[in-house]
Amino acid sequence: MDYNLKGKIVGVTGAASPNGIGYAIARRFLQEGCKCFTVDIVGDKVALAAEALSEFGEVKAYTADVSDKDQMIKVYEDAAAAFGKIDIYVNNAGVGHTAPLAELDEEDWDRELRVDVKSVFLSAKYLPKYMNRGGTIINAASFVTLIPSAVMGAYSAAKAAVMALTRVMAAELSGMDIRVNAYIPGIIDTNMNRQRIETIGDKLQAQIATQRFGMPDDVAKGVVFLASEAASYINGTYLEVSGGKFCVQNPNYAHV
Ligand code: NAD
Repeated sequence: MDYNLKGKIVGVTGAASPNGIGYAIARRFLQEGCKCFTVDIVGDKVALAAEALSEFGEVKAYTADVSDKDQMIKVYEDAAAAFGKIDIYVNNAGVGHTAPLAELDEEDWDRELRVDVKSVFLSAKYLPKYMNRGGTIINAASFVTLIPSAVMGAYSAAKAAVMALTRVMAAELSGMDIRVNAYIPGIIDTNMNRQRIETIGDKLQAQIATQRFGMPDDVAKGVVFLASEAASYINGTYLEVSGGKFCVQNPNYAHV
């Protein structure tokens, strides 16, 4: 689909895994004629992924921790110097710790909030000066933003905070003509979910009206739409890409 994004400069974090959402987002933007830089903490993997992505367009990979201020300022600076000012930035990197709160390690709680939330804060504080007017920042929230999950307390708290920050950023960055939105994936078939899909896949699928798990590219298509002129008056909100997860309490009743 042509969203008129040709030549736009796009950053995507958490794009090291070829079957992850970040990779699919970068690929879609490249296919739209954008230039992309990708950022991930797993250096060798993000470089390999960028090599594969280069089939679709110009791409540059950075190894950095999205929760580290100095590393990220360097990425913003270098990407803007290499490509020109940034138009679209996707805070996609995330981690999801699974444990009841009583058993959750403090280090894991801290890491969850650092990677998922502090990264978004850093982009709000340090990225705009490297961005073009009319740009957009798009943050990965989660279905736990809408309904928190048991045994995912830290993740639920972090992704609720991502949505709160998204709204505040939309208001505070409007003076620079930067829109800020979030996307809420449902259950997407990536490494993050592989074990749950393998063990309780039937139960999870029964929550989804569309009766299938999402693919990373389903989310990527939504993110490209949010970044485009087609979404010019969409600001401070989220796009749910869940195939209708819990659009009713009991989606599976429609098929029994
Ligand atoms: P994934 O685990 O496949 O990819 C996440 C990427 O983030 C990995 O490549 C990882 O190396 C990177 N990363 C982790 N910590 C980092 C750090 N400190 N600095 C830089 N990179 C770091 O996950 P995914 O399923 O592709 O999810 C992408 C985003 O979408 C995440 O924010 C996730 O919470 C969110 N999400 C996913 C689902 C789903 O069903 N998969 C559902 C809701 C929300």
